[in-house]
Amino acid sequence: SDRITAELLSRWVHEFGALVSVHHDRLNALDAAIGDADHGTNLDRGFTVVAAGLPTAPQRPGDLIRHVGRTVVSNVGGAAGPLFGTFFVCLGDAIGNDPALDTRRFALGLRAGLAGVVARGRAEPGDKTLYDVLAPAVDAIDAAALAQYDLPDVFHAGLLAASAGRDSTIDMLARKGRASYLGERSVGHLDPGATSACLLFTAATLSVT
Ligand code: ADP
Ligand code: MG
Ligand code: MG
Repeated sequence: SDRITAELLSRWVHEFGALVSVHHDRLNALDAAIGDADHGTNLDRGFTVVAAGLPTAPQRPGDLIRHVGRTVVSNVGGAAGPLFGTFFVCLGDAIGNDPALDTRRFALGLRAGLAGVVARGRAEPGDKTLYDVLAPAVDAIDAAALAQYDLPDVFHAGLLAASAGRDSTIDMLARKGRASYLGERSVGHLDPGATSACLLFTAATLSVT
């Protein structure tokens, strides 16, 4: 079916946590180059708590994702905690508790999550942050949902756009967060937050296959 259930959302979050754990060292290494080397540790610690709580989390889509967001806010450190946490809280608020969401509604939810990230961190396009992954991925998912692609293709479109967005951060000069202290020296490196945000869309494709 092309509907998104709480079970699928739970798989998505679980897959993201698993990917964060696999990429822990790599995310820390990316953050070592332009930050303080803790991005993988911050996310992995928090999503370990999130994953452990999934079996007992609320089993309605909006409630589940809001719960995930609150757990992220309280258990992920650094800049990433409030930003990823807000993303999930706003996503959860926007999707509501329809037990089987359509892709269009999910795309609107992701857009609300992105708006929450912007409200929290004031990132603009090209600032070398997770925004540069989330914004193109949300646009791609929205367009694919409008075109009535099947769910796997909707998520695949999101992953392609997210990957391109991640790679686009290499040439950017950081204007937000710790990396901005480096000025020109931030150019030539992948942004760690953009890299982890891309894993959200890898996880989404894994959750439907
Ligand atoms: P910290 O910098 O506090 O150690 P992390 O290392 O966990 O936090 O996260 C760093 C990532 O957070 C960056 O790579 C960037 O993508 C993201 N980030 C930082 N500030 C902002 C912001 N204002 N808006 C969006 N994303 C941001
Ligand atoms: Mg850091
Ligand atoms: Mg830190």
